[in-house]
Amino acid sequence: MEWQSLNIQRDFKPGIHCVKKIDKSYHIPVSSGEILTLIGQNSWQPLNKEEWNWSGLTSCKSHFLGWLREIPLFAEELDSDREEPEGYKFTSLWSFLTGSELSVFYLIGRAKQIVDWNKQHIFCGACGGPTSESITDRSRRCEKCNIPYYPRLSPSIIVLVTKGEELLLARNANTQGSFYSTLAGFVEPGEAIEETVHREVEEEVGIKIKNLKYFSSQSWPFPNSLMLGFHAEYMEGEINIQEEEIADARWFHYTDMPNKPAMMSISGWLIDDYIKKLSD
Ligand SMILES: [Zn+2]
Repeated sequence: MEWQSLNIQRDFKPGIHCVKKIDKSYHIPVSSGEILTLIGQNSWQPLNKEEWNWSGLTSCKSHFLGWLREIPLFAEELDSDREEPEGYKFTSLWSFLTGSELSVFYLIGRAKQIVDWNKQHIFCGACGGPTSESITDRSRRCEKCNIPYYPRLSPSIIVLVTKGEELLLARNANTQGSFYSTLAGFVEPGEAIEETVHREVEEEVGIKIKNLKYFSSQSWPFPNSLMLGFHAEYMEGEINIQEEEIADARWFHYTDMPNKPAMMSISGWLIDDYIKKLSD
């Protein structure tokens, strides 16, 4: 398989249970949130059935993810005290953001989130009793109080606020690095997504915005966000930062930009999209 040309929308069909007899299979071993990778490999790929058998690793649980070009794909949940087979190492999800194709990043992010979900819901959060896996959907259900536990997704907004040729970017108070990025925040219960955008911008930098326009979304598995990206225009107010969240926020002219997130992230895409429109 040509892994560098993997297109997740075209090549991957998600599924819950593998009912067919398997001759071939692919495996993504996950341990403590890290992914097993072959040392020296140019582009990441999952282990095939033979490599998985030869690795000597055993998983606590094998999670069927779906079919990758018709071949069943599994996330393999390993113990945290696992040892790497010779020639392999465990790699953090972050390194896939800079060193791999976006489709590979999404596939690995899916594997990691399914493993996280299973590990975190062995017991019921309400009564402490054991849960068991559903055969009809991706959930675990408490055997006593019947509460279902699905993989958790946290919807978040990310917004590029602009004023003509200027872009509002901020440096986060809680992350390392000197780069400036778009504003972001989690959706609260009871809130429409547009309300979140207005609220987050006002809370973080003290300004009001108008003309929200949905841009696109991105799965962001750190640990389980779904980023919904927007463009928005400045309406009124002066920048007044929320110091617990934001270290600095400013307007930057598009020809004089600071360090941006050097990753394939929706933040970067929003910025690039706006600058491209200004430059056209
Ligand atoms: Zn329960």
